[in-house]
Amino acid sequence: MTTVFVVNSGSSSIKWELLDAESGSIYSGGIVERIGEPGGGAANHDEGMHQILAGLGNEHPAVVGHRVVHGGAEFTAATVITDEVERRLDEISVLAPLHNPENLKGIRAARAAFADVPHVAVFDTAFHGTLPPEAFTYAIDADVAREHGIRRYGFHGTSYRYVAGRAAAMLGRDLADLKLIVFHLGNGASVCAIDGGRSIDTSMGMTPLEGLVMGTRSGDIDPGALFHLGRAGMTLPELDQLLNRRSGLLGMTGTGDMRDVQSAADAGDETAKAALAVYYHRLRHYLGAYLVALGGADAIVFTAGVGENSAATRRETVAGLEGFGIALDVHANSRSSTQARVISRNDSAVKVLIIPTNEELQIAREAVAAVSL
Ligand code: ADP
Repeated sequence: MTTVFVVNSGSSSIKWELLDAESGSIYSGGIVERIGEPGGGAANHDEGMHQILAGLGNEHPAVVGHRVVHGGAEFTAATVITDEVERRLDEISVLAPLHNPENLKGIRAARAAFADVPHVAVFDTAFHGTLPPEAFTYAIDADVAREHGIRRYGFHGTSYRYVAGRAAAMLGRDLADLKLIVFHLGNGASVCAIDGGRSIDTSMGMTPLEGLVMGTRSGDIDPGALFHLGRAGMTLPELDQLLNRRSGLLGMTGTGDMRDVQSAADAGDETAKAALAVYYHRLRHYLGAYLVALGGADAIVFTAGVGENSAATRRETVAGLEGFGIALDVHANSRSSTQARVISRNDSAVKVLIIPTNEELQIAREAVAAVSL
């Protein structure tokens, strides 16, 4: 048994779990929310971490695993955190100004509290270290790209690694022989083409803004639209806010929560229906691209809040693709369950799966593996 303390420190919350890395058994877990807000759970990340530690009582983890959003080009595997690594993470923060500084606050507070155990950074970008240059290169001036680190990195990698392993086990196949297309659809959403366990393409890019339509992010948009808005007087912070916080489902409908958009559409709301059509259109755009990138797929997998729970999203993503060997079992798809399951018909050449993601368990496993090297 190896008890791991997993910390996911975000902008206004710290999520944590104390679990066994081998069995996945969760001993305790929780979330401190609305950090720094009036009436919130804690005044700052340090205070939040101290609350969590006080609640842990006598439990003492063997390792602490930290979720870090951006590892840049440098960190392509889980890494034991030293003062030097912490300094490098600080430098990389320019690549992910919305996420990495918050991850670092959690790291600093937890390292101070658990000074005698190893701490490991597990990166959302690391799984995509296998992207080939043609998939990660933006076709811009090469010197500018090199100087500023402008390339595609991809995110949700911890989830993809976990889900890919589970998919292979469910299908009774070796991951090395599998071609998978995994849709991680949460508030943030992306999709990944996985060939033999290696990420070969993914929809998020240099930042988590590119690709699919999300809860509050636009996903793909012509950069020319930004120049146009800039000339019309919008500032860079306003454009950042527009695309990251006021776009996606929220921007199109007024709510970024898929449940609300779907119930509005079910009740006949035309704005909600139109927004869902945009959301589905983008999913299908990437499904087509990745079927070609992989030369066909063994399975299409749905995970995270929307992927695991929204039957309509799964149905619309693969609708009418029987000619490509993709045939959904509509009854299995609409049955609600929290279990991993197959939702394609028996005669479907491409299996369609729902696999609940478990990023905490994957972080715990990678943290243990990193310290046993
Ligand atoms: P995060 O990216 O914050 O981890 P989650 O993976 O928890 O997000 O996904 C949150 C999204 O999942 C929200 O848009 C929420 O509306 C959606 N969701 C959760 N349950 C359902 C459901 N039953 N039907 C449709 N969408 C759902």
